[in-house]
Amino acid sequence: MAANAPDFGQIAKSVELETKAFINGRFVDSASGKTFDTINPATGRTIAAIAETDKEDVNRAVSAARTVFDKGDWRNQSPRDRKIALLKLADLVEKHQQELAAMEALDTGKPVLDAFNADLPDAIATLRWHAEAIDKIYDVVSPTSSDIVSMVVRDPIGVVGTVIPWNFPLAITAMKLGPILAGGNSVVIKPAEQTPLTALKLARLAAEAGIPDGVVNVLPGYGETAGQALGRHADVDCLSFTGSTEVGGYFLKYAAESNLKRVLLELGGKSPVIVMDDVDDLTPVVEQIAFGILFSQGENCSAGSRLLVQKNMKERLLAAVLDHFRTWKVGDPFAPDTRVGALIEEKHMERVLGYIDAGKKEGAKIVLGGNRVLEETGGYFVEPTVFDNVRNDMKIAQEEIFGPVLSTITFDDVEEAVSIANDTKYGLAAQLYTNNLHIAHKVSRQIRAGTVSVNCFSEGDQAVPFGGYKQSGFGGREKSLLAHDQYLQFKTIWMQLR
Ligand code: NAP
Ligand code: MG
Repeated sequence: MAANAPDFGQIAKSVELETKAFINGRFVDSASGKTFDTINPATGRTIAAIAETDKEDVNRAVSAARTVFDKGDWRNQSPRDRKIALLKLADLVEKHQQELAAMEALDTGKPVLDAFNADLPDAIATLRWHAEAIDKIYDVVSPTSSDIVSMVVRDPIGVVGTVIPWNFPLAITAMKLGPILAGGNSVVIKPAEQTPLTALKLARLAAEAGIPDGVVNVLPGYGETAGQALGRHADVDCLSFTGSTEVGGYFLKYAAESNLKRVLLELGGKSPVIVMDDVDDLTPVVEQIAFGILFSQGENCSAGSRLLVQKNMKERLLAAVLDHFRTWKVGDPFAPDTRVGALIEEKHMERVLGYIDAGKKEGAKIVLGGNRVLEETGGYFVEPTVFDNVRNDMKIAQEEIFGPVLSTITFDDVEEAVSIANDTKYGLAAQLYTNNLHIAHKVSRQIRAGTVSVNCFSEGDQAVPFGGYKQSGFGGREKSLLAHDQYLQFKTIWMQLR
């Protein structure tokens, strides 16, 4: 950390936490009065008791969101005024970025410098990008005969429910909030039970930015209760979910069994990383491979978890990978040299360790790591782990592990690489490393995934769409102007002139 960098340990100690639900512009206890503990994954200790909302709170929040939507306090503001409010929200997030980064590290176990240098700038840029877009989107006049005026206009969809995972709580909430609010909608947010803190702080900042009461509501609580009630609510017009493929499927069922609300799903992945033998300089390649699977402890939907390497360069690449992975220090999220923090909770750590066992049992070979570490801290740390001799039909190559575990698979030629890359139920992201322009173009078109990054690990920036093919996504795209259309509906106005 630079000499003048903030003392995040100190900030974390003194940071003021919101612990109640946010409904209709006020922080309130849950209707049942129940609370649950949010835990620091790096110590296993409780950070705070948080209001545990359920169906009754969902009813209250949706009713508030509907009332303000119908009144038009937000929806009927000019796009320019909504832009000003959203830009103010982005400024407030920026003003509080140190506290927000500290809260995020406390709640998720991720390195605070990752939260500060990646999640926070991303959340701020996202809010600004969507704010700036609002007053630059034009509707259309359609080509008709001269006795007709026909317009296709965008209307906000109404009340949007959004259910968020624990891996990038603030960044994903901002990614949803930007286009939802830009369009004039109201929103009810259900953060993951493990990570409610930054969403609650965001609610306070939204109020401070002048966004009217009822437009933004935050309901901490469990998926099976609060999440399900939101998914099944007959007055929610759209449900935007990010999380596992399994739970994503539940939301389709909830919608089918309630009001056919629009459902948008951003789901899991098992992303391939293809390395061709024409690559000469391995240093930047192994840096990106490490970033792809170790950043965020591998708890990343687009993590590059399957390393597909051309057979004749496997030994060389793997040696460089291991050397580099050893430099990624596991430890206290608040230590400046930590690059791999704690996994989100004990149950998830056990799941990751279970996959490591399954890999060994199926005959893959551990060449690095494989263990829980730093147990004495009470935290849930797993060291960077690399498997060699993996076959693509093994469990560790097919299922999402969501931890710092890389599986190495070899291929003979580019056709085989593409075939292995696509042999998965997922299709969120892929990486390709090659110096050959033809291979770069051809393979990036042949891979069935929403984002293919060439000679880097990247999801792109706010200006490009993000979402999954196959079982990695459903119904839309996050980011870019496409994200706005997810929360709007198109109305045709057909006017006969006399
Ligand atoms: P998860 O278990 O699917 O949970 C996500 C959210 O759904 C949480 O708020 C959870 O509440 C809620 N939920 C759980 N069960 C529910 C139910 N029966 N009904 C309604 N809501 C329910 O996922 P996670 O473990 O938090 O996150 C990891 C997953 O998210 C991975 O699969 C990852 O790939 C995916 N992800 C995808 C993207 C993307 O953009 N494609 C981004 C990040 C993460 P609780 O807190 O109570 O569990
Ligand atoms: Mg927590």
